[in-house]
Amino acid sequence: MTAIGTPQAGNNLDPWYHHYAERAAALRASEVRALFAVASRPEVVSLAGGMPYVAALPQDLVMNALENVMRKQGPVALQYGSGQGVPLFREQILEVMALEGIRANADDVVVTTGSQHALELVSKLFLDPGDVVISEGPSYVTAMVIFKSYQADVDHVPMDDQGMIPEALREHIARLKAAGRTIKFLYTIPSFHNPAGVTLSWARRLEILEIARENQILVLEDNPYGLLYFDQKAPDAMRSVERDGVIYLGTFSKTLAPGFRVGWALAPHAIREKLVLANEAAVLSPSSFSQLVISEYLATADWKGQINTFRGVYRERKNAMLSALAEYLPELTWTNPNGGFYVWLNLPETLDSKAMLPRAVKELVAYTPGTAFFADGQGRQNIRLSFCYPTPEHIRLGIRRLATVVRDELEL
Ligand code: PMP
Repeated sequence: MTAIGTPQAGNNLDPWYHHYAERAAALRASEVRALFAVASRPEVVSLAGGMPYVAALPQDLVMNALENVMRKQGPVALQYGSGQGVPLFREQILEVMALEGIRANADDVVVTTGSQHALELVSKLFLDPGDVVISEGPSYVTAMVIFKSYQADVDHVPMDDQGMIPEALREHIARLKAAGRTIKFLYTIPSFHNPAGVTLSWARRLEILEIARENQILVLEDNPYGLLYFDQKAPDAMRSVERDGVIYLGTFSKTLAPGFRVGWALAPHAIREKLVLANEAAVLSPSSFSQLVISEYLATADWKGQINTFRGVYRERKNAMLSALAEYLPELTWTNPNGGFYVWLNLPETLDSKAMLPRAVKELVAYTPGTAFFADGQGRQNIRLSFCYPTPEHIRLGIRRLATVVRDELEL
């Protein structure tokens, strides 16, 4: 037996390599992570991350909320709280969800440490090794990391510009069932998809809910971007028409600020109690401080007007990105999102987005290769471009640099 703490074959740097649980294998740094460290240098235009542009927030109003909370209820804000979340705050969350057609009871809302943590809790409750999660292909990378860390497999259903294709979903379910697989839930980002930038049409929302109902598959509706539309509102949330078969996830990360780390799950009543218990086991209680500050902000600031400001900022940036693409890369195709943060670019077949990234970084532009968003190696001909953080001028510059890289690659 090798002594504890002795480096072993497989990983010379980590003496505990053979002690990890099997599920830890899924927690690997992505191959492009090291490059992103380089890409964070100021001279690089990063179209890679998904950081909200929090500088557009009314900082004074956030400061007011913070001061009011400390003055009026400092000891409560600094104390542990309910494992389900502050009751008044959960009522306010109902008002946010009402904007997307959801009518619910505050008793079914569970406040979490960002919606990322809600994804973790739902996975913990439902996934056993070998289970299957169906998702769009591509899908949100860090949700898939969680699913895989619970040793579930991700099955990708293809999408088009209307979102997930219902016929393909039916086929996938039939195939998985015929193979004796257990499908635990359908994970979907219906509005302003990350990374594809497309929105599931209303007709398809109904159809997909019907398919899920027929097959007794729980739907996990992840909706961080729904309120960040540009011209036309997204269709109402799937949860607005299906209460018992949908766990809905929301967050203040994109409409307010991710630094609060506050999101929520709206769960079918039967599931809600388990979620609260899982939340308590994980964090005891979500941050009282963050919840109370957001609650005060919602009560005192024009938060709907502020979301409108964000919409304007992101609309301008999306337009800058699409016009730069049309000017510098007219031979390629891309999605035209009506909200959210992302454009999905299709490359010619001879190019490989992952292999091209180091050369792009050398040309001082970074993006996320499509392969990051598939569990099965697809995505080499795709790139996710984020327009949320850089200024319109930087977006133009970034796309111009990207065009140079693409041209050079095509001529190789
Ligand atoms: N779901 C999706 C689709 C996301 O894009 C993100 C953030 N990038 C999250 C969940 C997690 O967000 P948060 O934990 O900040 O609420």
